[in-house]
Amino acid sequence: MSHGRIVIYGRANCARGYEVRDFLTRNCSDYEWVELSTDGEAQRQAEVSGLADPRLPLCVIGQSSKLYCPSLRELAMALEWFKGPRYEHYDLAIFGAGPAGLSAALYGASEGLRTIVIEKTAVGGQAGSTSKIENYMGFPDGITGAELAKRAREQAQRLGAEIIVGGEGISGEHRDGWQLSWLASGEQIASKATICATGVEYSRLGLERERDFLNRGLYYGAGSSEAEICKGHVVIVGGGNSAGQAALNFARQSKVTMLVRGECLKDTLSAYLLERIEDTASITVLTRTELVELYGNEALESITYRHVTSGETADIETQNVFVCIGGRPRTDWAKPGVLHCDPAGYVLTGSDLDRSSLSGGMWTDGRAPFFMETSIPGLFAAGDVRHNSTKRCAAAAGDGATAVSMAHQFLRSVKYRRYGNARPPSR
Ligand SMILES: Cc1cc2nc3c(=O)[nH]c(=O)nc-3n(C[C@H](O)[C@H](O)[C@H](O)COP(=O)(O)OP(=O)(O)OC[C@H]3O[C@@H](n4cnc5c(N)ncnc54)[C@H](O)[C@@H]3O)c2cc1C
Repeated sequence: MSHGRIVIYGRANCARGYEVRDFLTRNCSDYEWVELSTDGEAQRQAEVSGLADPRLPLCVIGQSSKLYCPSLRELAMALEWFKGPRYEHYDLAIFGAGPAGLSAALYGASEGLRTIVIEKTAVGGQAGSTSKIENYMGFPDGITGAELAKRAREQAQRLGAEIIVGGEGISGEHRDGWQLSWLASGEQIASKATICATGVEYSRLGLERERDFLNRGLYYGAGSSEAEICKGHVVIVGGGNSAGQAALNFARQSKVTMLVRGECLKDTLSAYLLERIEDTASITVLTRTELVELYGNEALESITYRHVTSGETADIETQNVFVCIGGRPRTDWAKPGVLHCDPAGYVLTGSDLDRSSLSGGMWTDGRAPFFMETSIPGLFAAGDVRHNSTKRCAAAAGDGATAVSMAHQFLRSVKYRRYGNARPPSR
């Protein structure tokens, strides 16, 4: 990736500016952020008519490439991160490049499977947005999520995995013994086995003006790209480990208030984070509270929170709220009913599947699903998206490795019966 230096010129509270910074940070790309505060600065530095010019933010890559208000896909293409699949078909296709997908990629490729990974947003998944992972074995001083993702990506690529960033799997089909998956860009990926490692997506607050302030003061996730540039009072919503890490990260230079719905943090937070939060004077924890209203014009200016038992409300002036309240599994690419999920939407696999509901259809050979295999033969689920998985980086990485070993068993079981020299069915 030798694209040269990246400089982004934009105004404060610009949603696209945040998306670009977040995307580059999570993909471990260094960049310089130049915040424009007057029309004159915008004219001189970005050569646009003023701060309100819709062509902002401007991304300058290397000596000559200028992208005005680029979409993330345009940016990924300019940085040469998005390339079409190299081969007509693969042994293993992996959707999602979080810890589960990256681990599956490096095991799959190192064990001789022709492996492709398709990642919608940024390599590293949720872990990539984490300011510091302290409980991953082998890193006694902790490691940033972005650095862990960068290392895993390099390792997987060195071992031969192909990784496409900016590709989104939107539907899949099991036909003639092949897994056929379609990307939002219209391309088809054919593979003999597939691993779904699409993780979870942040839950929304469900507030009236949420959309008005999305990425203009209201952010989902821990905001690891923002800690250096956030000024004033930062509000974190949530009481789990991700919220705790975000609070500690921002507390280095901002006053932080955590709005926590539960009675206390000790039930939801790891002990080491709890101790640090208690020792950090710039963090205030308000338990039994919830965020109820957002105010502002162009960008967020203040919020109201409510005490859940007394109903009393209070306001905080803040331009930065980070919401870390967990999420829901990302399975919207699957046909309803074909992929069997639990009531919360997590993918059922192996012995968690009701075998009587699998008879017939695609399960004509009467075998039981392998461990981690879903209701679709040859499609495995790994990491946070899987029912009953442990929501941790190490567990997701372990899941990815195990899913590859199960994929080997599946490929051995079907090799001579279905494939031979066969090619995927025509499109
Ligand atoms: C802020 C934060 C801090 C955390 N801190 C820690 C910690 O300190 N220690 C710890 O052990 N765990 C931590 N966790 C939890 C840990 O990050 C997750 O358990 C882990 O990332 C799950 O990995 P995964 O690969 O299953 O899914 P994810 O990390 O969610 O990755 C899934 C990937 O799939 C991609 N994707 C989704 N849909 C599609 C699609 N249709 N097509 C292509 N790609 C798709 C997503 O863009 C994403 O990159 C933290 C989580 C958060 C949010």
